[in-house]
Amino acid sequence: MERVPAAIADALQRTIEGGGRICVLTGAGMSAESGIPTFRGTHDSLWSRFDPMQLARAEAWCADPALVWGWYRWRMQLVRDAQPNAGHQALADLARRVPLALVTQNVDDLHERAGSTVDAHVHGSLFALRCFACGRTHHGPLDDYVDGQQKVAPLRCTACGDAIRPGVVWFGESLPDEAWNTAVDAATRCALMLVVGTSGLVYPAAGLPALARRHGATVVEINPEPTALSAEADHVWRSTAAQALPQLLAV
Ligand SMILES: [Zn+2]
Repeated sequence: MERVPAAIADALQRTIEGGGRICVLTGAGMSAESGIPTFRGTHDSLWSRFDPMQLARAEAWCADPALVWGWYRWRMQLVRDAQPNAGHQALADLARRVPLALVTQNVDDLHERAGSTVDAHVHGSLFALRCFACGRTHHGPLDDYVDGQQKVAPLRCTACGDAIRPGVVWFGESLPDEAWNTAVDAATRCALMLVVGTSGLVYPAAGLPALARRHGATVVEINPEPTALSAEADHVWRSTAAQALPQLLAV
């Protein structure tokens, strides 16, 4: 079993004893450990022929809503078939012991299913559906199981009749104001930021660790590989979320 690096154990202990807040920023690596592919499709999938950069944008939706909705229905199914891992579980447990703000770039619901309250889904959420035209939230159930290899006609808005879209942030769209403001507030006020499973390439979310640091926080990166954020972290732990995070509970 891996031990928490001493400097990180110290930082966590100091934060807890000092009554400081912890902010956790999670990214795709956490979901990947639960078996959710990091955006790109599997090789045998219909979707391997499509570039996610081309599908995840409003232009694609307008050109062929059934194609884009079919892709999202497939991704929703992958999430439903996946289970939260030990890392998700550990963060839920940690939040019961210390003041913790959870900010995620992930659009799945694995944190919630592990028992966490997510303070900010900065890139939106797959399951937060809303009308493409009028923005009205759609609460109705999804249609039946979709095998994930086909186009699917989108649901229709009960108010205006336009198509219902997934509540994720597409390329070219700005982040949802409320989630982003919450994330900035959490980064600004925390004493310790844990950056977990994110490559640190997608801005503005990738700017949160630097923001936390400017406001005096200690920044810890937990990721198996070096990332764009490693240089600005005070401490790095080369491990995965599922392996590392449960060890923090022993501190
Ligand atoms: Zn509508």
